[in-house]
Amino acid sequence: MPPSSEQLGNLSRMDTILNGNWRAQLLARSLWEFYHSRIYCTIRGNDLKPNRIRLIGVLGPKQIGDVGFCISIRHDERQEEALVHELLHANLIPLGYRRFWINDDSESEEYRRAAGIINLADHKLMRPIFLGFGYSEDRFVGPGRELNDLELRIDKYFEAVRNDLQEPAQYLHYVGKCLSDHGVSFESMDIAAAMVSQLASR
Ligand SMILES: [Zn+2]
Repeated sequence: MPPSSEQLGNLSRMDTILNGNWRAQLLARSLWEFYHSRIYCTIRGNDLKPNRIRLIGVLGPKQIGDVGFCISIRHDERQEEALVHELLHANLIPLGYRRFWINDDSESEEYRRAAGIINLADHKLMRPIFLGFGYSEDRFVGPGRELNDLELRIDKYFEAVRNDLQEPAQYLHYVGKCLSDHGVSFESMDIAAAMVSQLASR
């Protein structure tokens, strides 16, 4: 199916924001292709709320449909880096890293803890690419809130195994272990494999 004008509008919005960095533009375009034009990018007013990325098209660990992402970033002086940061989250699926389905509702404490753990692990994978694109370390995350004691411990744990995390099977092992150790019930999902088999059956 050809992209809709809305989808094309999202691509050109990202292209404009990333205008100064052809590597980042190339990443946005390749993800937009990979997710069949389903990367939506919204720019909000400067409301001081965190930038967000939301996986769409996954209704359960066995119900993987038309996968894509909705990215929502603030219109401020860090918007380019913020967009690259969120795109690097989306890039983990084509790179072969599993995603996690948390068996709890998204408002629960357990879910928030799980999201925090996954985020900390993902950042270990994403940071070197961010720097490789020429952005500076102190702009990888926004000013936001400080990590709490538990998050600091988890961050230290992932930092110690940072090199092992690069390998998708090891990533699954360490993140899965950390989730279990912190009382999170989850299932892992190989979303890229599901997308490939969808393509094959079309
Ligand atoms: Zn992040």
